[in-house]
Amino acid sequence: MKKIGKYGFYGLLILIGVLMYNTLSTRSKQITVENIPEIAVDNNAAKRLSASVKIATVSHPGKIDTFAFVQHNRFLDSAYADLDTLLNKTYVNKYSRYYRWHGKNDLLKPILLIAHLDVVPVEGKALKEWSEGPYSGKIQDNFIWGRGTMDDKVSALGILEAVRELIKEGHYPERTVYIAFGHDEEILGANGAGAMAKIFKEKGITFDYVLDEGLAIVEKALPGINGPVGLIGLAEKGYLTLKLTASGAGGHSSMPPKHTNIGILSEAIKNLEDNPLPSDISGPTKELFEYAAPEMSFPLKMVMSNLWLFEGIIKGQLSNKGTTNATIRTTTAVTMIESGVAENVLPTEATATVNFRIRPGESVDDVVRLVQDRVGEHIKITKLEGGRPASKVSSSEAFGFQVIQRTIRETFPEVIVVPSLVMAATDSRFYEDVAENVYRFLPLQLAPEDMERIHGIDERIAIDHYNQIIRFYYRLLKNSTT
Ligand SMILES: [Zn+2]
Repeated sequence: MKKIGKYGFYGLLILIGVLMYNTLSTRSKQITVENIPEIAVDNNAAKRLSASVKIATVSHPGKIDTFAFVQHNRFLDSAYADLDTLLNKTYVNKYSRYYRWHGKNDLLKPILLIAHLDVVPVEGKALKEWSEGPYSGKIQDNFIWGRGTMDDKVSALGILEAVRELIKEGHYPERTVYIAFGHDEEILGANGAGAMAKIFKEKGITFDYVLDEGLAIVEKALPGINGPVGLIGLAEKGYLTLKLTASGAGGHSSMPPKHTNIGILSEAIKNLEDNPLPSDISGPTKELFEYAAPEMSFPLKMVMSNLWLFEGIIKGQLSNKGTTNATIRTTTAVTMIESGVAENVLPTEATATVNFRIRPGESVDDVVRLVQDRVGEHIKITKLEGGRPASKVSSSEAFGFQVIQRTIRETFPEVIVVPSLVMAATDSRFYEDVAENVYRFLPLQLAPEDMERIHGIDERIAIDHYNQIIRFYYRLLKNSTT
């Protein structure tokens, strides 16, 4: 007994030693950059964003407001007419467009910056709750109000403003720059980004990196880190909707079996919810930990630096909250249910619709198999259209990531940069075939409560934040093409 106690004590000492060693030896992955003087931004940039917001280029399910898009085309073409002398412009499916800014050195692979020009509608009920009209483009107290100021006209116009600043300076890019704006991102993007990506593919054009919206700079994004965190999306989750059906004999409700089809389906749903799909800390989520851990305060730093020991505890913690649970597993959401025709008739069928967001590393077939295991053989599973696995995971070692990281640190010196996984779908997935790496980052500076403004009520941006976005694209273009 005494011996075991002694060995136990030494074991504990070694364990503490290993934990401390791992904690203290994690080196910061943040890069140090020189102090770069801030460029002046044109005073009228905010007015141009406001003018764009006033043209309600709304994507409704299944259709877009074409008249608004015609007007918006005219607006862009006149507000940035001077760019047309240097940049080659091509319209695609009338309302999408891409520009090519030809570089000096054809041996260097071009880069592609993308954004979208459509915005989501405002529900009738929510309209009353807006402090300013969603398409007013009102400029007041340092804010520009309305749809598109965060998602995603801010990015499109921000890029054009940055290009204009560079042209004014006489900058001539070493590397060719492409810029592409889709017009239907909010309704799946097939006619905009989908069509443009196809054109690039047919022309044999491939990009060193693509940058799209997706993640942002968020205050209090991670526990143990006080300052703002800039999250660069290395990948986005996949999408799958399954229909679960329980079917069998109907009949009169006076002599029912122990379980009707509704009961059988309910049990299947309960099993599915009680047994989440497997969790895994890998890919972008693992990289997030590796970048974040050295910046964290004790004791979180120790926990995060010793995944080999604490992985189980961390997974348990992350699983508790919807937002963090989504970073480690394919999520399961039962969204619709249908059955029954009359109060005294046993239903012959009961169906549930379940939406999954697939994590990198799992396929559509994996998910179907895992779901079948959970709901049992008597439930029929049907795949609905539109299922796709997660995107490829882009590299955090590649030029694209490095240059985005450096540009963030130069423009926002207090920001900690970390790779991450995007939960939503963006236009960028269309460009996977024509790019080595695809990143998802737009430097919106968000407080936690600002997240709800995106697709929500009171979408707005502070003018000085918009100016910072322009400065970010300006530096990114300069860093990528000098
Ligand atoms: Zn968007």
